[in-house]
Amino acid sequence: MSKTEVGLTARQMETYQSLDGEALIAALVENFPGRAAVISSFGAESAVLLDLVAKVDPSLPVIFLDTDELFDETQAYRQTLVDHLGLTNLIVIKPDPVDLAEAQDLWQTNPDRCCFLRKVLPLERAVAGYTVLIDGRKRAHGSDRAQLQALEIAEDKIKVSPLWSWSEEQISQAFKLRNLPEHPLTAQGYRSIGCWPCTRPTKPGENSRAGRWAGSAKTECGIHVEPKAKVMNHLDVLENQSIYIFREAFNRLDKIAMLWSIGKDSNVMLWLARKAFFGHVPFPVVHVDTTYKIPEMIAFRDRFAKEWNLPLIIGKNQAALDAGMGPEQGRVNCCSALKTEGLKQIIAQHGFTGIFAGIRRDEEGTRAKERVFSPRNEQAEWDVRDQPPEFWDQFKTDFAPGTSLRIHPLLAWTELDVWRYIQREGIPLVNLYFAKNGRRYRSLGCAPCTGSIESNASTVEEIIAELETTKVSERSGRAQDKESEDAFERLRSGGYM
Ligand code: SF4
Ligand code: SF4
Repeated sequence: MSKTEVGLTARQMETYQSLDGEALIAALVENFPGRAAVISSFGAESAVLLDLVAKVDPSLPVIFLDTDELFDETQAYRQTLVDHLGLTNLIVIKPDPVDLAEAQDLWQTNPDRCCFLRKVLPLERAVAGYTVLIDGRKRAHGSDRAQLQALEIAEDKIKVSPLWSWSEEQISQAFKLRNLPEHPLTAQGYRSIGCWPCTRPTKPGENSRAGRWAGSAKTECGIHVEPKAKVMNHLDVLENQSIYIFREAFNRLDKIAMLWSIGKDSNVMLWLARKAFFGHVPFPVVHVDTTYKIPEMIAFRDRFAKEWNLPLIIGKNQAALDAGMGPEQGRVNCCSALKTEGLKQIIAQHGFTGIFAGIRRDEEGTRAKERVFSPRNEQAEWDVRDQPPEFWDQFKTDFAPGTSLRIHPLLAWTELDVWRYIQREGIPLVNLYFAKNGRRYRSLGCAPCTGSIESNASTVEEIIAELETTKVSERSGRAQDKESEDAFERLRSGGYM
């Protein structure tokens, strides 16, 4: 039976098209575990959809787009609904600051461009890791939505509108039956609520969306129509290159896996892998557990491995641990045994020919000598003096038998790029990065060897501001780098990640 690009058969499509409400949400969430997200404006009717979502799975990601032009009442209502329904995975996304600067007051002169910068672009980025996108559109909204179906396939996405067939009467009944809190502006006659400059209350007899862009021919913001030509910024270029590296490695190597250290870089790498493969990571995600990691890191790993449905492999060098290996035996010895040897054991056990690792050139001098596709000999050793050239993103992948590759999708990123991307995409992180009582971690590793830094930066925005002026190096808190002058290069030459 032929399938759509997103893997649905004609029969499945037919079945889904006949459903609505909770049944439709449940069926798709079950068929696409970890790959479904809800998009909500927390507007006048949003409570009904979110209530159904909460019944199916309150931990389903709910993406809220803060355009920077929303009513204060919408921001307050968002929290009211999240608390009332017990939603546990709200993702707030914002436009890129550069785009926001261009969009200043643009709603007055070019609302299409304003919506493109404030809505279409940030949402396009945020949903890249998901296949199923659940929204609150209804036929009753009229205009272009009058012919809406339960499901639409748009390139690599399934757009699902569980309330597609619901009437206004059914929506208001659902509010009463479920005792759902109303948006504070509903009482003032607002029936469809978006950005404040482009929303007014409706008059009696008007369609519910008549108050959106009233007096102009515009009826949609562009989120639900074909994307327009996109101008790439610096982060888009980096993202595109990383996704290309992921797909190139996946196509060329037989057995591939990804290291996940739970730090910010490896979380960004994981996010990019999910984008590269439409929300699904098609290779094992490997965590080398030294048993010395900070407990919050392990809790984060277990939570997101489940939430993102990751094929997780956890490996340890048990023999070394049983023999009492620890940092008191010397940090280079300990890292060699618990990290390098631990990783080698996993590679040998599973026969991996390629491993993705989230290192960056700007992080540390030895890493600056790396290639994107970096060969390792049969002993997983790195010969820093014999590496292939990589001009114009041409990567060598045919090596002698026994060679394995380390692939580095983030090699060209800087620490600031990583944080700006985390801000843009709303990527979750271990909370140790955010200052508490005047201290925070800038780099995460094993508890005995990782120190915090003095800082009051408790948000992503504050961390970016701090990094723009700091003179302190990123790995200044990592004790194993300092054991001797060449400690880190010796570790990496021996196979360390
Ligand atoms: S709805 Fe209005 S203010 Fe909001 S993004 Fe669109 S044009 Fe700009
Ligand atoms: S970072 Fe410290 S505890 Fe962890 S493996 Fe290295 S030396 Fe051992």
